[in-house]
Amino acid sequence: MFEALNERLTGVFDRITGRGALSEKDVAEAMREVRVALLEADVALPVVKDFIAFATDRATGEDVIRSVKPADQVVKIVYDGLVEMLGGEEPTPINLNATPPAVILMSGLQGSGKTTTSAKLALRLTKFDRKKVMMASLDTRRPAAMEQLQTLGKQIEVATLPIVPGESPVQITRRALQSAKLQGYDVLILDTAGRITLDEALMAEVAEVAAVARPVETLLVADSLTGQDAVRTARAFHERLPLTGLVLTRADGDGRGGAMLSMRAVTGLPIKYLGAGEKVDALEVFDARRVAGRILG
Ligand code: GDP
Repeated sequence: MFEALNERLTGVFDRITGRGALSEKDVAEAMREVRVALLEADVALPVVKDFIAFATDRATGEDVIRSVKPADQVVKIVYDGLVEMLGGEEPTPINLNATPPAVILMSGLQGSGKTTTSAKLALRLTKFDRKKVMMASLDTRRPAAMEQLQTLGKQIEVATLPIVPGESPVQITRRALQSAKLQGYDVLILDTAGRITLDEALMAEVAEVAAVARPVETLLVADSLTGQDAVRTARAFHERLPLTGLVLTRADGDGRGGAMLSMRAVTGLPIKYLGAGEKVDALEVFDARRVAGRILG
């Protein structure tokens, strides 16, 4: 995770930490290099501009330049700025505050990792939060996707709604709600259909399901490897669907980190989880401090 960005930034900081004193010019030069590193990591330009303006202003202040260890202070300013960019100090917990079943709606493009993430989240809520969880697939166009969720459910010992061919996504949603309620489930995870690209029909379908399901969490699952495309997808979904949070998958293979670093500032939405591998237990609660620590570590 973040290998390329980490290498670039540690390079910049190694050059300044070697020196006892720093001039305003040295700091400004280091900030220019940080700017290039962030742009190379594919962070959205407006996000980079804001970050550099803020960090340069703080780092070239007299109190930093005249301090005993100015380079350490510059690193700290960049660290604080990254934490802020990633969404602030405290992780935003998943909200399950609803009359049971608390519905979590999973949205996203096909291949983003939506079904795998549904199962990962179900496992997490079952194992760590001791919740009784049911999952249901609404992907009526792809029977394979429905079967995939069922197979994952068996593997992690989490219930899935029995598949009834011929139903519409809204019909499945109604059946799932009723079944989860009658059987006393705490949480119902709805895995909506994805498409290869964004289209109006997909948006209309997900919005219709959301109106019926009234989810307490509507999460967008996006592939971090797609960089700014993931950010554009999140923005487009959020325009049609009141999202409550994001899950970024394939963070394990993401050496650049541009999607992760841009998401919060561009969409205003918190990243709630990171997918960090193919296995069902590879889901991390997103923690901005830990991520910023990895970037600079
Ligand atoms: P969907 O079409 O959005 O439901 O996508 P799937 O859940 O079927 O995932 C597509 C592929 O991505 C599968 O091979 C998953 O194992 C893989 N995948 C999902 N999340 C992650 C992740 O966080 N890391 C890695 N390395 N692979 C993932």
